Order: sequence, then structure tokens, then C-alpha cells
Amino acid sequence: METLAERLAKTRATISEECARLQRQEPTLIVVTKNHPVSLVDELYELGERQFGENRIQEALPKFIEFSGFSRPEPATWHLIGQLQTNKVKQALEFASVVHSLDREALLLELTKRTAERSEPLKVFIQVNLTEDLERGGVSPSAVLEFAEKVTKVPTLHLEGLMAVASLDDEPEKDFESMARLSEKLQGNHPQASGLSIGMSGDFVQALAFGATHLRIGTAITGNRQY
Ligand SMILES: *Cc1c(COP(=O)(O)O)cnc(C)c1O
Repeated sequence: METLAERLAKTRATISEECARLQRQEPTLIVVTKNHPVSLVDELYELGERQFGENRIQEALPKFIEFSGFSRPEPATWHLIGQLQTNKVKQALEFASVVHSLDREALLLELTKRTAERSEPLKVFIQVNLTEDLERGGVSPSAVLEFAEKVTKVPTLHLEGLMAVASLDDEPEKDFESMARLSEKLQGNHPQASGLSIGMSGDFVQALAFGATHLRIGTAITGNRQY
């Protein structure tokens, strides 16, 4: 059985090889630590990881607090990658410095309110829903540009770019291509919003080919999650 260190090294190597082949810059690797104990986050930190992704507030906040109880030579960055209820925004902002799942007007309003006193803007990605399924989180592609206008008007939010989860595991290229096109359009209006948070364990190689700037990788590095 492979160790965490081996899986991390292998994933990092694949990313580097792909980026070299594609002659592109390396993306930010976010290791998704959901459903794993804080000891795994500690281990990853020791292995040099500084970017962690979590999707549930009630799990992430205690983990963050425990992790932050020790002084560290370098700070870590915590990314919220899962759907955020408006009544959890206050807690989310206690640990997350990047929110990848800004997916609706009500959440934008709550984030606006809760960040009003901040000196550093909160980094946000607009989550795009690439499916017809309205139950899945995300702004529909046709509404993204209009929504982005509202986000960029909030001085305490910094629009980083777009985020999506591919709708089909076996054919992510189509979705990633749509995202790359949408991102290009968005950057026409907002050049700074060049982030593209696409790519997970099963499809990060394809995501790199379509310009992913942030990969959210869980199981390929952490092993299977404990539910
Ligand atoms: C869990 C999760 C990931 C990581 O998934 P893996 O397949 O384990 O790499 C990425 N993004 C989101 C939104 C997730 O919820």
C-alpha cells in the first residue's frame, strides 16, 4: 500500500510532467482533506503542503482550530470548496480565506454583509453549474457574466475566477472546454479574474490541458475518505 507521502509525490510529479509537456505554469494544488482527521492535515503540512480544501463548516472549523493551535513556520491557506448555507457564513469566514462556491445571489448578499469590516478582501470563485440539474450548486453559464458584475462591485470581495465540477466522470473535456471559454469571456471584462478552479482526482490531467489554475485533489493524495 502506498503511503500519503508517496501518493502526494506521485500526484505532484504528474502535475509537473503535464505542465512541462503543455508548456504552462504549474497550478495551485489544493489538497482536499474532508472526511479525514486533523492528523492528516498535519502530515501534509510536514510534507510541504500549505493549501487545504474542506467542504463542510461543521467539520472544517474544529479541524482548523485544532490545526492552528500549534505555531507553524508558515501559514496555511484554507479553501472552502463546498456549498455554503447563508447561516454558516460567519463560521466559514473564521477559517476560509478563499471561497470556491459562490453560487447564488443570497450568498453574495450575506458575504457582502459579513465581510464589510474586513481590511483584506475575501477571495471568491463563482461556481458554475454545467448540468441541467438545478439541485447541483452553481450559477448557470448564461448568467455568470451578469453575476460577476455584481460580485466585482463589492469592495471586500475579490473575484478570482470560476469554479466547476465536471458533470460526467468519463468525459470531462467537454465541460472543461466550456469553462475555458467562459473564463476567457469573463477575463474580457475582468482581467484579474483569471482563476479556473477545475480538476479533481479523476480528471486533473484533462483540467490542466484546459487551463486549470487551481486543482482540488482529494482521494488521489489522501486515499479513500472515512465516512
Ligand atoms: C471532494 C471534492 C473534491 C475532491 O474530490 P476527489 O475526487 O477526492 O479528488 C473536489 N472538489 C469538490 C467540490 C469536492 O467536494
